[in-house]
Amino acid sequence: MINFKEVNKTYLDSIVALDDINLSIEEKEFTFITGPSGAGKSTLGRLLIREERPTQGEIFFEEVDVVNLPKKFLPEYRQQIGVSFQDLKLIESRTVRENIEFALEIIDKHPKEIGEITEYLLDLVNLKERADLLPICLSGGERQKIAIARALASEPKALIADEPTGNLDPKSTGEILDILKSINDIDTTVLVITHDESIVNNLNTRVVTLDQGKIVSDKVGGYKYQKTSKKDDKKEEREEKEEKKEKKEKRGSKKNETSKTEKKESKKEKEQNEIEMLELPKEVEEKLLANGIDELDKLLDLTESQIKKKGITEEDLNKITSRIEELNNLREK
Ligand code: ADP
Repeated sequence: MINFKEVNKTYLDSIVALDDINLSIEEKEFTFITGPSGAGKSTLGRLLIREERPTQGEIFFEEVDVVNLPKKFLPEYRQQIGVSFQDLKLIESRTVRENIEFALEIIDKHPKEIGEITEYLLDLVNLKERADLLPICLSGGERQKIAIARALASEPKALIADEPTGNLDPKSTGEILDILKSINDIDTTVLVITHDESIVNNLNTRVVTLDQGKIVSDKVGGYKYQKTSKKDDKKEEREEKEEKKEKKEKRGSKKNETSKTEKKESKKEKEQNEIEMLELPKEVEEKLLANGIDELDKLLDLTESQIKKKGITEEDLNKITSRIEELNNLREK
């Protein structure tokens, strides 16, 4: 379901947050991502929800090519992955119930459904009796539960809980883990990011340990991680073979295989992605997307009248030119 392939993330040219990460997480799996502070755990989560892009590598969520996903599809994509953030991001001026209702409102749930889903989520995280209190009146564990309930508002396929037990006593830690387990039991893939190795070792779940941006171990409880059955291995082998065969065939008869429309579409998508990756001012980006300019580099050759025809001002063009130069410089480095 989740696939990181040869993923690297470097900040400021020299801070290596993730180094050659290859990680597969199956649907409905419960996985701890652990390791010391600074190991790269949160970066992994940020890349998965496309808050950032990797420096190199591919990330897939089911069929979605996360790295190249056009910006306009991001809100819809992110609804599939609920996140409870380390800093919780609660609205302190609203009650527990209102915090959850708000999360449902912003994803345009029908007012009729909001009440029903809110009650369901309050029940799921055992907060029914605290529903009308402000978050400030609640304990650390209870505040964490609000964040988890809110992350589930969009009925996501996967939940990332970032340090959900940080600073909690053992009893509250146990309660939170029980809630995360029950969420996993209702078929949600759960990823728990934690630096607390003591909580992960006692549970019979998968534990992926990162250190200095690398995966240093991948185990279930005390055992090295293995697929649950031989059947799975065989299935994977078969799929791999089929994939290889497909690639080979594609290489052999690429010209015949791809229809003209498919080619056009993928070219258009590529072009749109490139435009988005330039991170131009929103207005300029919209103009470019609307005018369907074939290749960005061609922009640089546009004459004045052509510029006007395409609805792009000279000022815009200067911005684009310098941004493309910047990008080329970066690529050359
Ligand atoms: P963890 O969640 O395991 O504590 P992070 O993923 O937050 O680790 O960070 C991994 C490394 O990347 C750390 O060295 C951190 O300082 C660095 N890092 C994370 N985000 C940024 C950023 N935006 N700019 C520069 N360095 C960053």
